[in-house]
Amino acid sequence: MIETPDEKKLIKANFAPGKISKDGFLGSDERHLPDIIAQDNQTLLSLDISREEIAKNLQMLIDEGKKGLESPIDYGNFIIQVQWSRGALPCPFGDKIFVPKIMATVRHKQLKSTIEFSQLSVHLIGKHGFFGGKGSHFRLEPVDLVGFLNLKR
Ligand SMILES: [Zn+2]
Repeated sequence: MIETPDEKKLIKANFAPGKISKDGFLGSDERHLPDIIAQDNQTLLSLDISREEIAKNLQMLIDEGKKGLESPIDYGNFIIQVQWSRGALPCPFGDKIFVPKIMATVRHKQLKSTIEFSQLSVHLIGKHGFFGGKGSHFRLEPVDLVGFLNLKR
């Protein structure tokens, strides 16, 4: 995707607080978006895991969690709770994709840790390799996700 300077500015604004997400997507991260993505991609390469594989697993958790109709559901190693809000969110990368407002809270029974992610996060990871800026509420550390999802090689 080749962007004009105006388009670049527009896309950057989408990641700031208050535009699509109340808290924004970048947190306290001062790196440029492509650098954030490139660094996480390096981590994934070193772990030999693709972003698509992570996204597929997160999507599976949402799909299973939906069966609980907003009540917690027991699924293998996980307890999943999914919440819906009305409407849809646009992807901040400006690809004209809208995703439903779905939020998943997933607890890993053995690890006793919990992650929270949205349907938008799944799109951002799978399509764009974007895991959130450091210090943002959205940030999912690739290395932690790989452990949480039991994807370690
Ligand atoms: Zn997108």
